[in-house]
Amino acid sequence: MEERALQLQSCMYQYSRAIYRSIKDLIEPYADHRSQLESRRDVLVACEQTMERLAKDPLYFSKPDRALFQDIRRYFPITAQAQVAWAVQEGVGAAVAFIEEQIEAGALDGGIARCRATTRKGKPCQRTPLPERDYCPSHQHLERTRVAA
Ligand SMILES: [Zn+2]
Repeated sequence: MEERALQLQSCMYQYSRAIYRSIKDLIEPYADHRSQLESRRDVLVACEQTMERLAKDPLYFSKPDRALFQDIRRYFPITAQAQVAWAVQEGVGAAVAFIEEQIEAGALDGGIARCRATTRKGKPCQRTPLPERDYCPSHQHLERTRVAA
């Protein structure tokens, strides 16, 4: 298991580097050299933190692409925002797909994704959640309540 965890970690590192590489040249082009370097470092750290969190908590990290984009968008000029959003979505999407494969293959501690709801009998629901959701079709109303709260 430990070897798998290390393998997963290095894969996540690759994904975070790939995201960083795809957007680093778009970072505020008119800033001075020093603040550009600082921005690059911040963006890289944000990518890595997102991937680490995703690897640790893949089932409960909802919309990681949006979370990362919110974290880093201020480092990019308005004209590059759409491109950055797209690159982040693609890169994080690839990482999420990879993690989901690992989960389905039983490689991660979390096992197969399960609906987060509790049944009327007080047992955890055993059904498979909807894609990119925490709840199964019968419990999907709970997701909406949570988002609204
Ligand atoms: Zn359910």
